[in-house]
Amino acid sequence: MPTIQWAGTLNYSAGRAGKKIIAIVDHITAGSYPGCLNWLQNPKAKASAHYLVTKAGQIFQLVKDEDTAWHVGIVNKPNWVLYDGTNPNKYTLGIEHEGQPGDAFTDAQYQATLWLHQELIRKWGIPVDNDHIIGHYRIDSVNRPNCPGSGFPWERLFRDLKGSDTVDEGILIFGPDDFVTANRLAATLGNEVAIFMRKSDGTAPAAIKAAKHLYVVGGSGVNHPNQTVLAGKTWFDTVAAVGKN
Ligand SMILES: [Zn+2]
Repeated sequence: MPTIQWAGTLNYSAGRAGKKIIAIVDHITAGSYPGCLNWLQNPKAKASAHYLVTKAGQIFQLVKDEDTAWHVGIVNKPNWVLYDGTNPNKYTLGIEHEGQPGDAFTDAQYQATLWLHQELIRKWGIPVDNDHIIGHYRIDSVNRPNCPGSGFPWERLFRDLKGSDTVDEGILIFGPDDFVTANRLAATLGNEVAIFMRKSDGTAPAAIKAAKHLYVVGGSGVNHPNQTVLAGKTWFDTVAAVGKN
């Protein structure tokens, strides 16, 4: 389990001028540890970030989340719908990553930043999508086109962040009459369970993908790789099928 080591810096502004944290901005240091950490602590840099994740998988915190780190710099031809015309430092968290643009992440660095993203997403209620987790280049596309650069593992990161939105068991039902059956089944499963309802046209909602295993209560099977169909001709037959499970 990664840990966060406090490093601190004087390069920050207290508070957030009344703004809420809405997004994470990912960066690459274009320099090696420990020099990159020293630089973010050097008043001459006039720059910082909330966190620095090294290639060895260490996580340093330089600025408290509740304070404003100086990580975004100048806004120049931004490509970010959530930019509101004011300083993005005030409503974002900045994560620096040790390395050069284009460097592949070490596994330790990847696992550390994945964990850190998960922590911050949970703590601040940040949605997992490419408007709320962005690269610096989205804010300054002119002078920072390579921050964090082509080596940044966007695809893997989003896949792993979204992958945590899963449940062990899903129960797909036809309508309100099936809730009793579903409740009984859910109570016997004793795992993380989600109940899904078929749409009015009888098809299953796309959200069933979030279930690692799906019980289909009533009706026929659906497009899910790991399903158990519990069906009877009547509601009573279905209850009996669930009861036998
Ligand atoms: Zn940057």
